[in-house]
Amino acid sequence: MIVVKFGGTSVKDRAAIERLIEIVGRTDAPVVVVSALAGVTDRLLGIAAEAAAGDIDAASGNVRALRLRHHGVASVVIDPVLRLTLLAELDREFDELDRIVGALAVLGEVSPRWLDAIAATGELASSRIVAAALTAHGQTAAWVDARTVIVTNDEFMSAAPIADRTNAAIRTAVEPLLAAGVVPVIGGFVGATDRGVTTTLGRGGSDFTGAIVGAALGASEIQIWTDVDGMLTADPRVISDPHVVPHLSFEEASELAYFGAKVLHPATIQPAVARDIPVRILNSQRPSAQGTLITATRSSNNRAVTAIASKTGVTVVNITSTRMLMTHGFLRRLFEVFERHKTVVDVVTTSEVSVSVTVDDRRRLPAIVADLSEFAEVSSEGDLALICAVGDGIMTDRAFAGHLLSAVDGVPLRMVSQAASRRNVTIVIAAADLPAALNRLHDQFFGEHAGVKA
Ligand code: ADP
Ligand code: ASP
Ligand code: MG
Repeated sequence: MIVVKFGGTSVKDRAAIERLIEIVGRTDAPVVVVSALAGVTDRLLGIAAEAAAGDIDAASGNVRALRLRHHGVASVVIDPVLRLTLLAELDREFDELDRIVGALAVLGEVSPRWLDAIAATGELASSRIVAAALTAHGQTAAWVDARTVIVTNDEFMSAAPIADRTNAAIRTAVEPLLAAGVVPVIGGFVGATDRGVTTTLGRGGSDFTGAIVGAALGASEIQIWTDVDGMLTADPRVISDPHVVPHLSFEEASELAYFGAKVLHPATIQPAVARDIPVRILNSQRPSAQGTLITATRSSNNRAVTAIASKTGVTVVNITSTRMLMTHGFLRRLFEVFERHKTVVDVVTTSEVSVSVTVDDRRRLPAIVADLSEFAEVSSEGDLALICAVGDGIMTDRAFAGHLLSAVDGVPLRMVSQAASRRNVTIVIAAADLPAALNRLHDQFFGEHAGVKA
């Protein structure tokens, strides 16, 4: 059994869904997980913002446009009876969305709980279309409601699945379908609490659903079908000539995902590791390309760096002890503040009297700064970027640090950190310096004259 997860661009229109049908047709005992059609989650969140602003006209106009787009893609189902059933199902989803948006626009307020109810529409609708399309093309499929199988806590917008409940629910719903030769189709990203309240797993969370489903069923492989040829040596939106990485270890993949390689949601690898299931990243527009295989085995290339992740939107918080030296208990108090405000800290460096940390999520920054200011001097700096070089080979390459630092010579470094795993080195720089710095690093480690390990 193989889990095949298709991202937004891989279901974005009729042609994309026809490619999906072919891929699924060539897969042994497939279980299908799909994202919302490309761009739909952003549109839904836009609609929620319009409702919150009380702009009912804009919000309902955009719901109407989304409904029409889905109706258009539903034309992939040629059979008139199946198509009518599908259109009725889609209309039920969008009628419900209309009702929610109308009510919230009157209130002029959208809580995280309702944001999730709105955002979930994308995957609920796309999975209905894909299930009907597979059936119409001769591969009998059944729609599985993600809200009945992915059981989560109530941390809306980034809900955490409850493993044993979820695993049991997936097996109960999916195994009988597989035994009957039916293809199960599940919307990614979406879940529900044990009381049935809709939740989502956070942006990009469909990959995570794919991995959870694969682990619950003991899949032989989890395939992530997307719009690039695999994990690339750097973000193709910043670097013009990245190469495909044919093989990654689980550890490398999770560090790359965590530090910004958007092709994989950061939580994806963990369920796969738990059951030692290989993950493959593949291009739905070029199914014959070999893609990237991610397994427990250490990276076999002879380079120090396997790939470089990067992200912008990084903020550094500098916290200086008001005493001469950091006192006992200072770090505990400091991290308690971030924990209290549910804000994840990515990179940490310390000196004699100060600690610097990076955060992605600025929403609670004012409250965090206020709380830290009770026992420290605090400053923060936004508009930064982070670059993280990852490779199992870093730990044994004596020339690595020199190569890294010479490549970014002249770029002011805000922070530098090497993890104890010695599998990654992270630098924090001004966002404006990212394109140049990443290009130079990519050249250094993957360019024509890049040396292999010293
Ligand atoms: P999907 O909708 O299929 O989940 P995403 O947009 O979430 O696709 O992820 C794929 C995108 O990730 C690529 O189009 C690419 O722009 C971006 N990306 C960033 N870093 C990398 C990387 N190192 N390798 C591959 N893709 C990357
Ligand atoms: N549709 C969701 C998003 O855009 C989840 C996903 O595509 O993985 O974030
Ligand atoms: Mg994605």
